[in-house]
Amino acid sequence: MKIYNTLTKKTEEFHSNVPNEVGIYVCGPTVYDYFHIGNARSFIMADIIRRYFEYKAFKVTYVMNLTDIDDKIIKKAQNENLAFREISEKYINAFFSDLEKLKVKKADFYPRPTENIDEIIELIKRLIEKEIAYNVDGNVFYDVSRFPEYGKLSGKKIDELESGSRVEINIQKKNPLDFALWKKAKEGEPFWNSPWGKGRPGWHVECSAMSMKYLNTPIDIHAGGSDLIFPHHENEIAQSEAVIGKNFVNYWMHFGFLNIQNEKMSKSTGNFFTAREILIKYSAEAIRLFFAQTHYAGPLNFSEDVLFGAQKGLEKLTNLIEKVEDQLKLKNHSSIIPEFEFSKYKIDFESAMDDNFNTPQAIAVIFDFIREINKIISENDDNLDFSFYQKIKDFLVPTTGNVLGILVWGNQEATFQESREDELIKLLIKLRLNAKQEKNFVLADKIRDELKNLGVILKDEKDKTTYKKQKLLEI
Ligand code: AMP
Ligand code: ZN
Repeated sequence: MKIYNTLTKKTEEFHSNVPNEVGIYVCGPTVYDYFHIGNARSFIMADIIRRYFEYKAFKVTYVMNLTDIDDKIIKKAQNENLAFREISEKYINAFFSDLEKLKVKKADFYPRPTENIDEIIELIKRLIEKEIAYNVDGNVFYDVSRFPEYGKLSGKKIDELESGSRVEINIQKKNPLDFALWKKAKEGEPFWNSPWGKGRPGWHVECSAMSMKYLNTPIDIHAGGSDLIFPHHENEIAQSEAVIGKNFVNYWMHFGFLNIQNEKMSKSTGNFFTAREILIKYSAEAIRLFFAQTHYAGPLNFSEDVLFGAQKGLEKLTNLIEKVEDQLKLKNHSSIIPEFEFSKYKIDFESAMDDNFNTPQAIAVIFDFIREINKIISENDDNLDFSFYQKIKDFLVPTTGNVLGILVWGNQEATFQESREDELIKLLIKLRLNAKQEKNFVLADKIRDELKNLGVILKDEKDKTTYKKQKLLEI
């Protein structure tokens, strides 16, 4: 299995510290708002990677932090006249509920800085003891000049960074690149007691302390969006390695941005859609397929046409699944067992995924499989031996279901989940038809017009009514 490592800038053979076990730490959200689908791209691609390790029979320990104390959380709490914990709790609950809807598997641990203050303070103390950090009037900073390897992840050089400095000037710092480990509390801000007075931890040190608490070092894999390479992950390396005196992480993985109209989707610029708003229009499976069709490391433009395409592509998968499910329920089958190399598709799927998680290639393999299988089924009038249908299931469930998370097999959940919105539109179309049959044309027209106001255009055809949804960007 090969992984591209941001640290070495090479695609490397993956070796875990302990055979068949892997520790993965992924930087999670700052919980001051609902997360957007740019964040969702990182969460979903990390989920697919984790699921692939499980497919390969690794015992995975998956950790994602929840940053529950931060300037943005404090500011929002102040604006809304709430305690900061009311803000963080609200958005942590929303985070869990949205991730579940996106079919993202739960992490083993979701550490929060507010619950790990002792570990964070301990780490800062050790950095001070080693004279790598300094305290100025209750603010503690990391002294970048004391870590010669600073810049090794991002490829930035300290002197270049200083000269082109867009770093915030702070007279307390020895060097503009030094960053805060402990922030002194201002009037009215939440605080914790520490050897340096009342304050709260800086963001970077939280991830160092919490990742090393839950995973052994060197951590096998540490991941996040590529906006985190500098300074967040660079600083994590500096803090952790200065203390442990060895490699902090073996493989650094970074997810490309989800862009919108060629600009990074981000809260601060306001060009974003929340995951919950997209989930109203599109199923989790369509969203996951949309993301997995592009390699995790490259940029991806948010496009509703492509998302529509993903939703359509899924129908091919669902049609096949329904057919196979029906056949598996039957008692009598023909004894025809066509020639088909199931193992070839399994091998191709695995070599795509083994090649730095090449999900677009893996999906191409699956859709080839579906096409070929459909051909055989129709050539034989859907009348084949039971074992053949079972083998289709045995290929699709672990790959398309368990790894990519774009199919659900069985009756507990619908195989293909329509979005709630589609279900509601179809219900209204049915009610409108009833109204027409009862000659209540006023109501029928009202339903059509109200839907139009909401961006749903109905079209009456000969024997059915179809609908088209306006795109989010047009609304
Ligand atoms: P935040 O809540 O901003 O700290 O982000 C949570 C996670 O989402 C981090 O791993 C970010 O790197 C990632 N992320 C933020 N914006 C995007 C984006 N537009 N595309 C992909 N990942 C992103
Ligand atoms: Zn982090």
